[in-house]
Amino acid sequence: MRVAIAGGGLAGLACAKYLVDSGHQPIIFESRDVLGGLVAAWKDQDGDWYETGLHAFFGAYPNMLQLFKELDIEDRLQWKEHALIFNQPEKPETYSYFSVPNIPAPFNVLMSILRNNDMLTWTQKLRFALGLWPGVLRGQKYVEAMDKYSLKEWLERQGIDERVSSDVFIAASKALTFINPEDVSATIVLTAVNKFLRERYGSKIAFLDGSPTERLCQPMVDYITARGGEVLLEKPLKEIVVNADGTVRHFLMRGLHGQPDQIVEADLYVSAMSVDVMKVLMPQPWKEIPFFQKLEGLEGVPVINLHLWFDRKLTDIDHLLFSRSDLLSVYADMSITCKAYEDPDRSMLEFVLAPAKDWIDRTDEEIIAATMKELERLFPQHLTGENPAKLRKYKVVKTPRSVYTASPGRQAFRPDQETPISNFYLAGSYTLQQYLGSMEGAVLSGKLAAQAISNAYPAAPSSASVSSSQAVPV
Ligand SMILES: Cc1cc2nc3c(=O)[nH]c(=O)nc-3n(C[C@H](O)[C@H](O)[C@H](O)COP(=O)(O)OP(=O)(O)OC[C@H]3O[C@@H](n4cnc5c(N)ncnc54)[C@H](O)[C@@H]3O)c2cc1C
Repeated sequence: MRVAIAGGGLAGLACAKYLVDSGHQPIIFESRDVLGGLVAAWKDQDGDWYETGLHAFFGAYPNMLQLFKELDIEDRLQWKEHALIFNQPEKPETYSYFSVPNIPAPFNVLMSILRNNDMLTWTQKLRFALGLWPGVLRGQKYVEAMDKYSLKEWLERQGIDERVSSDVFIAASKALTFINPEDVSATIVLTAVNKFLRERYGSKIAFLDGSPTERLCQPMVDYITARGGEVLLEKPLKEIVVNADGTVRHFLMRGLHGQPDQIVEADLYVSAMSVDVMKVLMPQPWKEIPFFQKLEGLEGVPVINLHLWFDRKLTDIDHLLFSRSDLLSVYADMSITCKAYEDPDRSMLEFVLAPAKDWIDRTDEEIIAATMKELERLFPQHLTGENPAKLRKYKVVKTPRSVYTASPGRQAFRPDQETPISNFYLAGSYTLQQYLGSMEGAVLSGKLAAQAISNAYPAAPSSASVSSSQAVPV
């Protein structure tokens, strides 16, 4: 089957990868001149990389890890010490570690909570550990049912202390969804916590050894094209043209650079675009169909990714860090954590600014000024005093609509990959799969779309399978 896929993010690429595996012929149409969507990255005039987002991979990403294995690029994942590390704003330039011992789950994570004496008292620790228990005992069904509550409401119901809520869960909520605990569905954080509690290396974090565009997307393109698929850039889908019975007649691609629009006919069609774009391009007749009407309940959340290049080292920590700042979420010194960005003498701090709704329309200068103020609190020894570190340059990347906003009740709006239109499928991390709006979710959604196609139209034997667990190199 010839399958036209609109969107060259991880979901579109994964869909094409698993389609070639099962003998189909995918062709990806990506609107921009760079692949990767939310993982896209660029080089500046000095040859330094900047990215749409700071991306961490988790041990609890079975489909992503399997993909790395299938592409034979497992060595590109740089696994870090098994720990979650938080800044301590009240004790600047010190860090609080939830170090996860190498013992079976869930005892490893529970031990990491019990052993942390910086952030939690014994009563808080016990409440925290006990509060998480229903998720472990009652599994994903319980976790899904909690979508009716915000994380803050759920924590209150569990009797988990406000201090834990503010210290640990604001950081987790901002990192996973770019919104605060009062706005985020309890299902999101419980899903992550549940995976961490069930899988020994689930919370272990890895960084890619270079830019996702070069080190992850390109090998996918090579794999796809070597097996008869195609990947085309600067090919934006302009219209999904439908037949009288609602099926897709063709994709109409917008001609760029003075080129005419182009009709693309295929046997099957996939949208691997974000939900916001899919809503705009929805053919009129589909708007009557409840399946597609549900998409109205989903909307991308704003987020901002910051890159700050300093004239010296501000930290020596080779890991993801939770800033516990109102303005900022997670960050890393990419000059340490990522091989291709390495600089032995100077830091390049990459931050996610979230929630970003009040910042997305501000100028880069305003955003950087506020960030520097915040950094003076986090790194006073380096950024105040007689000889403060100098900011050599910065880059601000704004994404007004990124992953779907994971507020309470959204699970019911997330569509399946198979649609009521017989020749049209959906992929994208917003579609229904158990890994939320993440890279793992994007890869899994693409794989599920490819599987739905292969089940309906078997070609050659499929080598693809959906993974629920994966060994992590330790
Ligand atoms: C700041 C930030 C930090 C993040 N951190 C993490 C993290 O640490 N760990 C993690 O797992 N996830 C993280 N994520 C989430 C992760 O990046 C996304 O969930 C995932 O990349 C989404 O992939 P996707 O293919 O579903 O969608 P997208 O990446 O949005 O891909 C959609 C593609 O469709 C293309 N497109 C749009 N319109 C058209 C059109 N008309 N025609 C053709 N193509 C079109 C777009 O250009 C894009 O390439 C982060 C995201 C951001 C923004």
